Amino acid sequence: MSTEAQIAFRDELIAHGLLHATDVDGLYAQSGVFEDIITRFDALVTRSGTADGPEVLRFPPGMARSTLERSGYLRSFPQLAGTIHSFAGGDREHAALIAELDRGDDWTGGQKATGIAFAPASCYPSYPIVARRGPLPADGALLDVQSWCFRHEPSVDPARLQLFRQREHVRIGTPQQVLEFRERWLKRGRAIMESMGVPLDIDVANDPFFGRAGRMLAASQRDQALKFELLVPITSTEKPTACVSFNYHQDHLGHAFGLHTADGAVAHTACVGFGLERIALALLRHHGFDPKVWPEAVRRALWG
Ligand code: AMP
Ligand code: ZN
Repeated sequence: MSTEAQIAFRDELIAHGLLHATDVDGLYAQSGVFEDIITRFDALVTRSGTADGPEVLRFPPGMARSTLERSGYLRSFPQLAGTIHSFAGGDREHAALIAELDRGDDWTGGQKATGIAFAPASCYPSYPIVARRGPLPADGALLDVQSWCFRHEPSVDPARLQLFRQREHVRIGTPQQVLEFRERWLKRGRAIMESMGVPLDIDVANDPFFGRAGRMLAASQRDQALKFELLVPITSTEKPTACVSFNYHQDHLGHAFGLHTADGAVAHTACVGFGLERIALALLRHHGFDPKVWPEAVRRALWG
């Protein structure tokens, strides 16, 4: 994937006023036009999923730090996680902070971790909420969630953000319920993205597990076909970008959060995650920078 192609696309998005740069790679302000694409796509996902009657949960970008700790995320992806820190000193520490700022030195040493961490994926904050209710009903749980997510992966690729939104549907229940859900959403996700008129492919994938042990985890995830990605070329045709993910966590999160089915077994979980910014970028890439002149069928699917 060429960095030049990524920079070129990013610069075009900025020149057209769709994104606004900040001092940080992977962090942008989004224009009204960009936001409107996301809102309309979000509504399309709602229309596709309402028949199943999911429970809707909307999260702030931060979640309890305890949720991050329990989830196992820090074992597998310490490089991506982010915690929120804040000043915790007195007058003396405050004076030191101001002096550091004035000298242009690092002023962050006195920051202490708060009880809040960024959500790395929009489904994470939902598991402790469901677990707190006790064993699941016989038909399990089905959630429709959305959150801003943080991943520390700065990049010039406008499709690799540090803060972005994931719209997800989450299924918690027996292996059979969860696998049936994933099959249903694999078909639905493909149909939704086909209606967007973009070239796409669905393939087995793995998460970027950290370190040497992580290579084995990634290989095993692939061997068992636990993760699929719906890929759309954005800044490269050889390395298309994952815009939708279909994840089967087996009983990993069930164990981590104490989720149980009605008969007392550890629950299995799966989720389908739509990367809202990436999907908006895929549309802008393939249909041009002005949604008013996008193909009629795509406009109808989004704006009705
Ligand atoms: P994952 O939890 O890694 O399966 O991600 C779910 C979806 O979130 C992916 O299919 C992407 O569409 C989106 N996504 C993941 N990482 C990023 C990122 N760094 N920037 C923008 N979107 C992302
Ligand atoms: Zn998820």
